Amino acid sequence: MSQTAVKTNLLGMSLPMLQAYFEAMGEKPFRAVQVMKWMHQRGVTDFSAMTDISHSLQQKLLVEAEVRPPIIVEEFLAADGCYKWIVEVASGSRVETVFIPEDDRGTLCISSQAGCTLDCSFCATGKQGFNSNLTAAEIIGQLWWANHRLGGFAPARPHAGKTIRSVSNVVMMGMGEPLLNFDNVMASLSLMMDDNAYGLSKRRVTISTAGVVPAIDKLRLHTDASLAVSLHAPNDELRNQIVPINRKYPIKELLRSVADYIDSLPDKRVPVIEYTLISGVNDQKQHAQELAALLRDFPCKINLIPFNPFSQSDYRRPSNNAISNFRQILQEARFTVTVRTTRGDDIGAACGQLVGEVVDQTRRSERYRRASTEAGNPEKGNFRVFTSADNLAVSVDSARRV
Ligand code: SAH
Repeated sequence: MSQTAVKTNLLGMSLPMLQAYFEAMGEKPFRAVQVMKWMHQRGVTDFSAMTDISHSLQQKLLVEAEVRPPIIVEEFLAADGCYKWIVEVASGSRVETVFIPEDDRGTLCISSQAGCTLDCSFCATGKQGFNSNLTAAEIIGQLWWANHRLGGFAPARPHAGKTIRSVSNVVMMGMGEPLLNFDNVMASLSLMMDDNAYGLSKRRVTISTAGVVPAIDKLRLHTDASLAVSLHAPNDELRNQIVPINRKYPIKELLRSVADYIDSLPDKRVPVIEYTLISGVNDQKQHAQELAALLRDFPCKINLIPFNPFSQSDYRRPSNNAISNFRQILQEARFTVTVRTTRGDDIGAACGQLVGEVVDQTRRSERYRRASTEAGNPEKGNFRVFTSADNLAVSVDSARRV
């Protein structure tokens, strides 16, 4: 009776893990570097195409191992060039990955969990509860896929004296709390920054956390990526209400752990404080003043995120006037402040709109399908369905633009 052996997926293995894998096979550890480059720099998933590997090792790998990115079930392309991919993970849940192109960079927003346990009051992901942790292959697989779709595995093209990459920055700001899926996120971060894989600068890879203090405290032992903290309130009383994890790890402890991590980095960097502005909740003048006082001796940049509405929330986005007043108070207190602009509006790709709920997705998909058909040209629509069969067969074509 034939038995299907479970193959080891090599895609999510960091260099030390991959070296250990090859050593356990009786192979030299440098095989790890070779295979890593094939997977992450050339986008190759078939061992028989890895031409600098002996035929006998190829045969062994074909039996025991695989390079398996997650399945992408849908792709959306927004009018402003943003992409959103719906990713199906092994647990059967769906998560989302968003690519945001700008003049000087391309940022990929990656999910780390299907759903989330933290239930921040303004976040759509929390409303669906927690489904599963993503595996390292599912996390790094989102970057693999974006490169695959955006031509990032093609030889680098010099542009105005610089090498342009499709994905130059990664933010762990998709669905889930990255520090509650610690090991898999750390393995993925290590691949993002490994010169034998994606080689992204540590300044361009950012973990965003709602404040899991014990995990921030051990972060320095595992990575030197950049850090963003979802603060959203200037005092514990308000933060307890909108970011419930604050009841366990209050602001003072959180800021202490963030400062310790940043101090442990050999280069000079500051954390980003994220602050989602919600009308009438945390966007008043006194909140801005209190925030400025709280962070007076805490070197950081502040990123204001106007609330993005979604159907299960009664919160409202503040007026432009309220946003600019809030910003001005912080700027007058000498903070560097940015206001996040909403991108990918027409494909539901904005912060906090990543729902991933199958029902909701199906409804959304229907809407896009209808919209592109009604536009009279489904081929030029901003929506595409991948079946699992063509997921990997799809050729490495360059990005479509509208
Ligand atoms: N769990 C992590 C990462 C996911 S959220 C964290 O909390 O940082 C990424 C960012 O999007 C966070 O700053 C989050 O507060 C913000 N966000 C979530 N929902 C939002 C919404 N509806 N409108 C605007 N920003 C939102």
